[in-house]
Amino acid sequence: MTMIANQLRTVQAQIAAAAQFAGRVPASVRLLAVSKTFPAEAVRAAALAGQHDFGENYIQEGVEKIVALQAMPDLPALTWHCIGSIQSNKTRLVAEYFDWVHTVDRLKIAERLSQQRPAHLPPLQVCIQVNADGGATKAGCSPAEAAALAHQVAQLPRLQLRGVMSIPDPLPDAAAMLAVHRRVVALFEALRQQSGLEQLDTVSLGMTADLDSAIAAGSTMVRVGSGIFGARDYVSRNVAP
Ligand SMILES: *Cc1c(COP(=O)(O)O)cnc(C)c1O
Repeated sequence: MTMIANQLRTVQAQIAAAAQFAGRVPASVRLLAVSKTFPAEAVRAAALAGQHDFGENYIQEGVEKIVALQAMPDLPALTWHCIGSIQSNKTRLVAEYFDWVHTVDRLKIAERLSQQRPAHLPPLQVCIQVNADGGATKAGCSPAEAAALAHQVAQLPRLQLRGVMSIPDPLPDAAAMLAVHRRVVALFEALRQQSGLEQLDTVSLGMTADLDSAIAAGSTMVRVGSGIFGARDYVSRNVAP
């Protein structure tokens, strides 16, 4: 088995254990393999080991990998998630190449994505990014803005709203971390109830370091990079973290 296949098995086992510990069915947590900074060959190794969902932060890099992987005839179709911040001038690439976007935090971006989503593709699956712990420099709408934005996004014809995404800052104290994760899940549940949108089924929450806590709180999709692919090397690839 390759190293990536091995690490993928380890992460899958960790997800299953965390789910069971929380009294949840392991299949209720979807694993998103975050392949940013890693080459197409690494994605290929994970795909051959059965991984289906992949996340990319940098649009151009992601599109290059999507095209490369689509050209590999022995692989099944993969599902690609955009999990990086999106400038207006990059919405067209996202709308044309990705299946999901987790980082919608303002209406203008959502409107462009809907306008630019090609008619032959299914609607783009969307999560609203929420800045749950209030870091001043972070992307994401405030928890107070989330319901209004979700309502507007849900009206856009070529988008399908699926839920919320958050990237809380790591906290050394496990109870404090769990409390932040629980706030994100509570916000999602309130949104689903108040909006009456029953298609909302996704809380994208938890990375390599905080996935146990996120699953305990009710995350339905964990985004794991280094746990599967190893440590990222930003310097030699000359991209900003
Ligand atoms: C890089 C990244 C991840 C994965 O982080 P790891 O700590 O490597 O698991 C998850 N989500 C987002 C939004 C990221 O940018």
